[in-house]
Amino acid sequence: MKATFECKDLGMACDFKAEAGSKDELMPKIVEHAKTAHGMETIDEEMKGKVVSAIKVL
Ligand SMILES: [Zn+2]
Repeated sequence: MKATFECKDLGMACDFKAEAGSKDELMPKIVEHAKTAHGMETIDEEMKGKVVSAIKVL
């Protein structure tokens, strides 16, 4: 299984893409990117929901 995420799917002008073996492995990578690239110190539940729905599981 493979889970992928692209920032642009959230409407961000950002080329960041991440992939991992599962959603659970992918989530920390996205959180780290959100902090370093987008200055989001915390991911609230609403944002988390958007991120989760943007993740594609192949
Ligand atoms: Zn981004």
